[in-house]
Amino acid sequence: MLTLAGVLGFPVEHSLSPAMHNAAFRELGLEWRYVKLPVPPERFEETARSLPGSGYRGANVTIPHKVAALRIADEPSEAARAIGAANTLTFADGAIAADNTDAGGLLSALEAEHVEPVGMRALVLGAGGAARAAAWTLREAGAADVSVWNRTPQRAEELARDLGIGHAGRPAPCELLVNATSVGLRREEGALEELHLADLDPPSVVVDLVYSREGPTPVQAWGERAGATVVDGLEVLVRQGGLSLRAWTGREAPLDVMREAALGLAA
Ligand code: NAP
Repeated sequence: MLTLAGVLGFPVEHSLSPAMHNAAFRELGLEWRYVKLPVPPERFEETARSLPGSGYRGANVTIPHKVAALRIADEPSEAARAIGAANTLTFADGAIAADNTDAGGLLSALEAEHVEPVGMRALVLGAGGAARAAAWTLREAGAADVSVWNRTPQRAEELARDLGIGHAGRPAPCELLVNATSVGLRREEGALEELHLADLDPPSVVVDLVYSREGPTPVQAWGERAGATVVDGLEVLVRQGGLSLRAWTGREAPLDVMREAALGLAA
Protein backbone atom coordinates (compact mmCIF):
# COMPACT_ATOMS: atom_id res chain seq x y z
CA MET A 1 0.00 0.00 0.00
CA LEU A 2 1.12 3.52 -0.76
CA THR A 3 2.42 5.39 2.27
CA LEU A 4 2.16 9.17 2.33
CA ALA A 5 4.12 12.11 3.67
CA GLY A 6 3.67 15.78 2.91
CA VAL A 7 4.39 19.40 3.71
CA LEU A 8 1.81 21.47 5.59
CA GLY A 9 2.13 25.19 4.92
CA PHE A 10 0.37 28.25 3.60
CA PRO A 11 1.52 28.78 0.90
CA VAL A 12 3.47 25.68 -0.17
CA GLU A 13 3.49 25.98 -3.98
CA HIS A 14 7.19 26.81 -4.09
CA SER A 15 8.34 24.12 -1.68
CA LEU A 16 11.30 22.05 -2.91
CA SER A 17 10.47 19.28 -0.40
CA PRO A 18 8.22 17.18 -2.69
CA ALA A 19 10.93 16.93 -5.37
CA MET A 20 13.56 16.12 -2.75
CA HIS A 21 11.58 13.47 -0.85
CA ASN A 22 10.00 11.79 -3.87
CA ALA A 23 13.46 11.40 -5.41
CA ALA A 24 14.67 9.88 -2.14
CA PHE A 25 11.74 7.45 -1.92
CA ARG A 26 12.43 6.30 -5.50
CA GLU A 27 16.12 5.85 -4.73
CA LEU A 28 15.31 3.79 -1.62
CA GLY A 29 12.74 1.68 -3.49
CA LEU A 30 9.98 2.78 -1.10
CA GLU A 31 6.35 2.93 -2.22
CA TRP A 32 5.86 6.31 -0.66
CA ARG A 33 4.55 9.59 -2.07
CA TYR A 34 5.20 13.11 -0.74
CA VAL A 35 2.60 15.78 -1.45
CA LYS A 36 1.97 19.48 -0.87
CA LEU A 37 -0.69 20.19 1.74
CA PRO A 38 -1.75 23.86 1.55
CA VAL A 39 -3.67 24.48 4.77
CA PRO A 40 -4.75 27.83 6.27
CA PRO A 41 -4.03 28.35 9.99
CA GLU A 42 -7.64 27.74 11.09
CA ARG A 43 -7.59 24.27 9.47
CA PHE A 44 -4.10 23.24 10.59
CA GLU A 45 -4.90 21.22 13.69
CA GLU A 46 -7.82 19.18 12.30
CA THR A 47 -5.89 18.52 9.08
CA ALA A 48 -2.72 17.43 10.88
CA ARG A 49 -4.69 15.18 13.21
CA SER A 50 -6.52 13.56 10.28
CA LEU A 51 -3.33 12.65 8.39
CA PRO A 52 -2.43 9.36 10.17
CA GLY A 53 -5.91 7.98 9.38
CA SER A 54 -5.37 8.84 5.72
CA GLY A 55 -2.17 6.86 5.26
CA TYR A 56 0.37 9.51 6.29
CA ARG A 57 3.44 8.43 8.25
CA GLY A 58 4.82 11.95 8.64
CA ALA A 59 4.76 15.57 7.58
CA ASN A 60 6.99 18.57 7.33
CA VAL A 61 5.58 21.81 8.64
CA THR A 62 6.48 25.22 7.35
CA ILE A 63 5.34 28.84 7.68
CA PRO A 64 2.98 29.68 9.39
CA HIS A 65 2.37 26.42 11.28
CA LYS A 66 5.64 25.60 13.07
CA VAL A 67 4.49 26.82 16.50
CA ALA A 68 1.08 25.13 16.17
CA ALA A 69 2.82 21.89 15.16
CA LEU A 70 4.64 21.83 18.49
CA ARG A 71 1.38 22.54 20.33
CA ILE A 72 -0.40 19.46 18.96
CA ALA A 73 2.50 17.09 19.61
CA ASP A 74 2.24 14.27 22.17
CA GLU A 75 5.98 13.67 22.06
CA PRO A 76 8.01 16.81 21.34
CA SER A 77 11.79 16.42 20.99
CA GLU A 78 14.10 18.43 23.21
CA ALA A 79 15.09 20.61 20.21
CA ALA A 80 11.46 21.35 19.27
CA ARG A 81 10.59 22.23 22.88
CA ALA A 82 13.61 24.46 23.40
CA ILE A 83 13.19 26.23 20.06
CA GLY A 84 9.44 26.54 20.55
CA ALA A 85 8.61 25.26 17.08
CA ALA A 86 8.53 22.02 15.11
CA ASN A 87 9.09 21.36 11.41
CA THR A 88 8.64 17.58 11.42
CA LEU A 89 5.71 15.47 12.61
CA THR A 90 5.93 11.69 12.80
CA PHE A 91 2.80 9.59 13.24
CA ALA A 92 3.28 6.25 14.98
CA ASP A 93 1.30 4.15 17.45
CA GLY A 94 -1.50 6.69 17.66
CA ALA A 95 0.81 9.47 18.84
CA ILE A 96 2.24 12.58 17.19
CA ALA A 97 5.98 13.08 17.66
CA ALA A 98 7.43 16.49 16.79
CA ASP A 99 11.00 17.44 16.02
CA ASN A 100 12.87 20.47 14.72
CA THR A 101 15.25 19.18 12.09
CA ASP A 102 16.26 22.72 11.07
CA ALA A 103 18.56 22.47 14.09
CA GLY A 104 20.15 19.13 13.15
CA GLY A 105 20.23 20.15 9.50
CA LEU A 106 22.35 23.20 10.29
CA LEU A 107 24.72 21.18 12.45
CA SER A 108 25.06 18.49 9.82
CA ALA A 109 25.79 21.07 7.07
CA LEU A 110 28.48 22.63 9.30
CA GLU A 111 29.99 19.20 10.01
CA ALA A 112 30.12 18.47 6.28
CA GLU A 113 32.40 21.54 5.99
CA HIS A 114 34.43 20.36 9.00
CA VAL A 115 33.20 23.29 11.07
CA GLU A 116 33.03 22.52 14.78
CA PRO A 117 31.19 25.36 16.59
CA VAL A 118 32.78 24.58 19.99
CA GLY A 119 34.38 27.72 21.38
CA MET A 120 33.39 29.92 18.42
CA ARG A 121 31.95 33.43 18.68
CA ALA A 122 28.73 33.25 16.68
CA LEU A 123 26.32 35.91 15.45
CA VAL A 124 22.84 35.09 14.17
CA LEU A 125 21.01 37.70 12.07
CA GLY A 126 17.22 37.61 12.43
CA ALA A 127 14.73 36.79 15.17
CA GLY A 128 12.16 34.57 13.45
CA GLY A 129 11.86 30.79 13.63
CA ALA A 130 15.00 30.14 11.59
CA ALA A 131 17.08 32.43 13.82
CA ARG A 132 15.71 30.82 16.96
CA ALA A 133 16.62 27.34 15.68
CA ALA A 134 20.10 28.46 14.59
CA ALA A 135 20.90 30.27 17.85
CA TRP A 136 19.75 27.32 19.98
CA THR A 137 21.73 24.87 17.86
CA LEU A 138 24.96 26.84 18.05
CA ARG A 139 24.60 27.29 21.80
CA GLU A 140 23.94 23.56 22.25
CA ALA A 141 26.89 22.72 19.99
CA GLY A 142 29.19 24.58 22.37
CA ALA A 143 29.73 27.96 20.73
CA ALA A 144 31.47 30.10 23.33
CA ASP A 145 29.37 33.15 22.68
CA VAL A 146 26.14 33.39 20.66
CA SER A 147 24.54 36.76 19.93
CA VAL A 148 21.59 37.73 17.87
CA TRP A 149 20.95 40.89 15.85
CA ASN A 150 17.61 41.83 14.35
CA ARG A 151 16.19 44.79 12.41
CA THR A 152 13.48 45.08 15.06
CA PRO A 153 15.61 45.10 18.23
CA GLN A 154 12.81 44.12 20.62
CA ARG A 155 12.49 40.75 18.89
CA ALA A 156 16.23 40.12 19.24
CA GLU A 157 16.05 41.01 22.93
CA GLU A 158 13.16 38.62 23.43
CA LEU A 159 14.93 35.78 21.65
CA ALA A 160 18.14 36.44 23.58
CA ARG A 161 16.24 36.40 26.86
CA ASP A 162 14.45 33.14 25.99
CA LEU A 163 17.66 31.34 25.09
CA GLY A 164 19.98 33.01 27.58
CA ILE A 165 22.25 34.43 24.88
CA GLY A 166 23.42 37.94 23.96
CA HIS A 167 21.96 40.48 21.57
CA ALA A 168 23.86 42.97 19.45
CA GLY A 169 22.95 46.58 18.65
CA ARG A 170 24.66 46.13 15.30
CA PRO A 171 26.45 43.22 13.56
CA ALA A 172 30.03 43.14 14.86
CA PRO A 173 33.06 40.94 14.10
CA CYS A 174 32.61 37.28 14.97
CA GLU A 175 33.90 33.86 13.85
CA LEU A 176 30.69 32.30 12.55
CA LEU A 177 27.80 34.27 11.09
CA VAL A 178 24.36 32.89 10.20
CA ASN A 179 21.97 34.92 8.06
CA ALA A 180 18.56 33.79 9.29
CA THR A 181 16.70 36.81 7.90
CA SER A 182 14.83 36.67 4.62
CA VAL A 183 17.18 39.30 3.13
CA GLY A 184 18.83 38.27 -0.14
CA LEU A 185 16.11 35.97 -1.40
CA ARG A 186 15.57 38.07 -4.51
CA ARG A 187 19.22 39.17 -4.72
CA GLU A 188 18.01 42.68 -3.99
CA GLU A 189 20.42 45.57 -4.30
CA GLY A 190 21.51 46.81 -0.92
CA ALA A 191 21.01 43.47 0.86
CA LEU A 192 24.39 43.75 2.60
CA GLU A 193 23.63 47.33 3.66
CA GLU A 194 20.27 46.24 5.14
CA LEU A 195 22.12 43.72 7.27
CA HIS A 196 24.95 46.20 8.10
CA LEU A 197 27.47 43.80 6.56
CA ALA A 198 28.76 46.00 3.72
CA ASP A 199 31.59 47.47 5.83
CA LEU A 200 32.30 44.36 7.88
CA ASP A 201 34.96 41.77 7.03
CA PRO A 202 33.34 38.33 6.73
CA PRO A 203 34.17 35.86 9.51
CA SER A 204 35.83 32.55 8.69
CA VAL A 205 32.46 30.76 8.49
CA VAL A 206 29.36 32.21 6.83
CA VAL A 207 26.01 30.39 6.73
CA ASP A 208 23.17 31.80 4.64
CA LEU A 209 19.90 30.05 5.40
CA VAL A 210 18.31 31.87 2.46
CA TYR A 211 18.35 29.43 -0.41
CA SER A 212 18.07 29.72 -4.12
CA ARG A 213 18.61 27.55 -7.17
CA GLU A 214 20.08 30.54 -8.98
CA GLY A 215 23.57 30.62 -7.52
CA PRO A 216 25.08 32.59 -4.66
CA THR A 217 22.95 35.00 -2.63
CA PRO A 218 24.45 38.38 -1.63
CA VAL A 219 25.52 37.05 1.78
CA GLN A 220 27.10 33.92 0.26
CA ALA A 221 28.93 36.04 -2.31
CA TRP A 222 30.14 38.33 0.51
CA GLY A 223 31.65 35.34 2.31
CA GLU A 224 33.08 33.76 -0.82
CA ARG A 225 34.85 36.97 -1.90
CA ALA A 226 36.81 36.88 1.35
CA GLY A 227 37.57 33.15 1.17
CA ALA A 228 35.28 32.20 4.06
CA THR A 229 33.89 28.70 4.43
CA VAL A 230 30.36 29.23 3.12
CA VAL A 231 27.43 26.95 3.96
CA ASP A 232 24.44 27.59 1.75
CA GLY A 233 20.81 27.31 2.75
CA LEU A 234 20.08 24.65 0.18
CA GLU A 235 22.50 22.30 1.89
CA VAL A 236 20.80 22.97 5.24
CA LEU A 237 17.43 22.34 3.60
CA VAL A 238 18.60 19.03 2.12
CA ARG A 239 19.99 17.89 5.46
CA GLN A 240 16.90 18.88 7.48
CA GLY A 241 14.88 16.92 4.92
CA GLY A 242 17.21 13.95 5.31
CA LEU A 243 16.67 13.93 9.06
CA SER A 244 12.87 14.08 8.61
CA LEU A 245 13.00 11.20 6.14
CA ARG A 246 15.02 9.12 8.58
CA ALA A 247 12.48 9.79 11.35
CA TRP A 248 9.62 8.56 9.14
CA THR A 249 11.24 5.64 7.34
CA GLY A 250 14.09 4.55 9.62
CA ARG A 251 16.36 4.64 6.56
CA GLU A 252 19.49 6.71 5.95
CA ALA A 253 18.61 9.53 3.55
CA PRO A 254 20.26 9.53 0.11
CA LEU A 255 21.53 13.10 0.42
CA ASP A 256 23.14 13.27 -3.04
CA VAL A 257 19.87 12.34 -4.71
CA MET A 258 17.94 14.81 -2.53
CA ARG A 259 20.44 17.59 -3.30
CA GLU A 260 20.17 17.02 -7.05
CA ALA A 261 16.39 17.08 -6.83
CA ALA A 262 16.42 20.27 -4.74
CA LEU A 263 18.69 21.89 -7.32
CA GLY A 264 16.30 20.85 -10.07
CA LEU A 265 18.91 18.57 -11.63
CA ALA A 266 17.09 15.28 -11.07
CA ALA A 267 16.29 13.27 -14.19
P1 NAP B 1 10.52 34.99 9.56
O1 NAP B 1 10.00 34.42 10.83
O2 NAP B 1 9.58 35.66 8.61
O3 NAP B 1 11.70 36.01 9.94
C1 NAP B 1 12.22 36.90 8.99
C2 NAP B 1 13.39 37.67 9.60
O4 NAP B 1 13.98 38.47 8.57
C3 NAP B 1 12.99 38.62 10.73
O5 NAP B 1 13.98 38.60 11.72
C4 NAP B 1 12.94 39.98 10.02
O6 NAP B 1 13.22 41.06 10.87
C5 NAP B 1 14.09 39.81 9.04
N1 NAP B 1 13.98 40.74 7.92
C6 NAP B 1 13.05 40.72 6.93
N2 NAP B 1 13.28 41.74 6.06
C7 NAP B 1 14.38 42.40 6.51
C8 NAP B 1 15.10 43.53 6.04
N3 NAP B 1 14.74 44.17 4.93
N4 NAP B 1 16.20 43.93 6.73
C9 NAP B 1 16.58 43.26 7.87
N5 NAP B 1 15.92 42.19 8.36
C10 NAP B 1 14.83 41.75 7.69
O7 NAP B 1 11.24 33.87 8.69
P2 NAP B 1 11.98 32.52 9.16
O8 NAP B 1 11.04 31.40 9.10
O9 NAP B 1 12.74 32.77 10.40
O10 NAP B 1 12.99 32.32 7.90
C11 NAP B 1 14.02 33.24 7.62
C12 NAP B 1 14.75 32.81 6.35
O11 NAP B 1 15.38 31.54 6.55
C13 NAP B 1 13.83 32.63 5.13
O12 NAP B 1 14.47 33.12 3.98
C14 NAP B 1 13.65 31.12 5.04
O13 NAP B 1 13.40 30.69 3.71
C15 NAP B 1 15.01 30.65 5.53
N6 NAP B 1 14.97 29.28 6.09
C16 NAP B 1 15.79 28.36 5.54
C17 NAP B 1 15.83 27.08 6.04
C18 NAP B 1 16.76 26.09 5.42
O14 NAP B 1 16.63 24.90 5.66
N7 NAP B 1 17.70 26.53 4.61
C19 NAP B 1 15.01 26.70 7.11
C20 NAP B 1 14.17 27.67 7.67
C21 NAP B 1 14.15 28.95 7.14
P3 NAP B 1 12.04 41.85 11.66
O15 NAP B 1 11.81 41.09 12.92
O16 NAP B 1 12.61 43.20 11.87
O17 NAP B 1 10.84 41.85 10.74
